[in-house]
Amino acid sequence: MQIPTVPSSVALPRELSRFTQLAYNLHWTWSAAARDCFALVEPGLWNVTGNPVDLLQRVSAERWKKLAGDVKFLRVYGRALAALDTHLSAPRTSGYEARGPVAYFCMEYGWHECLPVMSGGLGVLAGDHTKTASDIGLPFVGVGMLYRNGFFVQQLAPDGRQTNIFPRHDFSRWPVRPVAGKNGREVIVSVEFPGRVVRAKVWVAQVGRVPVLLLDTDIAQNSIGDRVITSQLYCRGREVRLCQERLIGIGGVRALRALGIAPTAWHLNEGHCVFLQVERLRELKKRGVKFDEARRRIAANTVFTTHTPVPAGNEQFDPKLVEKYFAADCHGLGIQFKQLLELSREHPRTGPVNLTALALRVSSWTNGVSKLNAKVENDMWRHFWRGQPDRIQAVTNGVHVDTWLGPELATLFDNCVGPDWRLSLCDAAFWRAAMAKIPNAALWTAHAKQKARLVEFCRERIATMRARHSAPPEDVVAATTSLLDPNALTIGFARRFAPYKRADLLFSDPKRLQRIVNRAGRPVQFVFAGKAHHEDGGGQELVRRIFQWCERPEFRGRIVLLEEYDMAVARRLVQGVDVWLNNPQRPLEASGTSGQKAGINGAPNCSVLDGWWPEAYDGANGWDIGAGKEFANSNRQARHDAASLYELLERDIVPRFYKNRAAWVATMKASVATVLPQFNSERMLRDYVEQGYAPAAGRV
Ligand SMILES: *Cc1c(COP(=O)(O)O)cnc(C)c1O
Repeated sequence: MQIPTVPSSVALPRELSRFTQLAYNLHWTWSAAARDCFALVEPGLWNVTGNPVDLLQRVSAERWKKLAGDVKFLRVYGRALAALDTHLSAPRTSGYEARGPVAYFCMEYGWHECLPVMSGGLGVLAGDHTKTASDIGLPFVGVGMLYRNGFFVQQLAPDGRQTNIFPRHDFSRWPVRPVAGKNGREVIVSVEFPGRVVRAKVWVAQVGRVPVLLLDTDIAQNSIGDRVITSQLYCRGREVRLCQERLIGIGGVRALRALGIAPTAWHLNEGHCVFLQVERLRELKKRGVKFDEARRRIAANTVFTTHTPVPAGNEQFDPKLVEKYFAADCHGLGIQFKQLLELSREHPRTGPVNLTALALRVSSWTNGVSKLNAKVENDMWRHFWRGQPDRIQAVTNGVHVDTWLGPELATLFDNCVGPDWRLSLCDAAFWRAAMAKIPNAALWTAHAKQKARLVEFCRERIATMRARHSAPPEDVVAATTSLLDPNALTIGFARRFAPYKRADLLFSDPKRLQRIVNRAGRPVQFVFAGKAHHEDGGGQELVRRIFQWCERPEFRGRIVLLEEYDMAVARRLVQGVDVWLNNPQRPLEASGTSGQKAGINGAPNCSVLDGWWPEAYDGANGWDIGAGKEFANSNRQARHDAASLYELLERDIVPRFYKNRAAWVATMKASVATVLPQFNSERMLRDYVEQGYAPAAGRV
């Protein structure tokens, strides 16, 4: 589906006129051919900006003219266009036959770091979901928001305190375009708010064949109070948050209608966007459908995914606040506010409005994001359907292989397995055979290159941070020369620093850790990265403590904490480390996807048996911290898990890495062969189509 947009004003030579399409279609984020082309536009500039729209605007007219006559450039440009065209016309294999597309609503999307409208795992998952919808040709349209100040940028002060910066973004430099209506002008949707109408401009991010509509209230028609509704992702203020959720739900449906899009299945990706159902009820009411029948119908073709058992993902509001914003809608629907309230509470007669509860009641098919998570969610919500079988199904998350697989490994697969490996992503037997075909030395060499790139990246990042801290010049130089050893066993740990993820577990016994890290001839190094939510004091304290551990003489240069965890950092890390570490407090990790990204790159997971890992771990493809043993007391659990982690490192991981290269490469291969076919986003999306979307569309 291609949405018409207001044309870009950059004038290019005729030979290069489709460069604009290459730059604005996010397909480049998973097309090496497109990125090769961008790298040639202006030597050095692509490495600095990583944003083709920025290139488009910064490169001079003379330079474009020169490129238009440059045979080598034109050849690479032609290959990039051919890759895009092949993608856009690839066979549609989704198996979804309904008349209209699937509409997918989510507060955040992570496609690439140059379009920062995400905070973490949920956004990256949504980004991977839309990319995959394009890959398999699923008729699909996303809805989200464009945040003027995005999510905060993390910097660390010299004492390790996290500072949270909200930059002001210029959307004209992002790979998004304003949607054009029939008259060629911008499309604006209106949503009633108490005593006024809020207007939102509709933008589109084109993700291969999939458009994602993004709403933005920062326009002149709105009062200053309404312009900032879409300012920050997951803003602090409860009322603004509710305004955002009203906007994405009701405004999102109206944006789809304004473009003539008639979805046949609807996906609530987390409860935040559940108010889209209020708008769909209104549409049915207008057509004369009675409330109970309307409610049955909107639920029938709606799929709801719940992503976490922790409170941040199960949003609650004071009923008074919800009444302020939704009483008028209820009046229009011919129901009492009390009826909406009963639908929205966990316990119908008392307590706050809970968006997960509401979403469960206005959808007909619900899933958690791993088998263990679905079990935990069923335990949480079983009282909702007393006596009947559990309703929450499991669709385990997966990752988009072309986004997360490192370039050297991708080339290795091309050469040793054949370029059609992308057509067999979900075939476990294929990947077992593929790994057998790849020579050990070739896999090791490809991995070593990815690891060298990670070390280089860490050195640059730490040097920049030290320079900003006005560290002595020799400390800055040391960061670029002696920080981390490209030959040492390198372990990665990167995630949001939510307390349940226990980022400091590794430091439970600093003396033991020091011996592990500094053993002569067998050094071990750790790279940490992660943001604590800007409201989460405990998480920020964790960041500060880890920073200070990194500064201790016995760990300096061996354990580093990188600032500003984003997709760029994540990509380097998952592609470059030898082992991926994950030690959450079980069973609070709903799925986790970073370990899947590392796993497909041949970095075995060393993880607590939480989230997706119990489905993947087979004894040969990584390690299980704590052996699944559970304690009611969280301190005892932490002591047990930490002891288990040290023991795994000392007895198995370190000796295998240094003493038995063949056994190590066998572990790497076992990781790829088991994680890639089962935990890629194509497998995930096909599960959604088969179990969620197609049946939902069939119920209308
Ligand atoms: C993959 C990813 C995540 C999610 O990883 P978890 O395993 O859920 O912690 C978060 N942030 C970024 C930038 C990512 O790339």
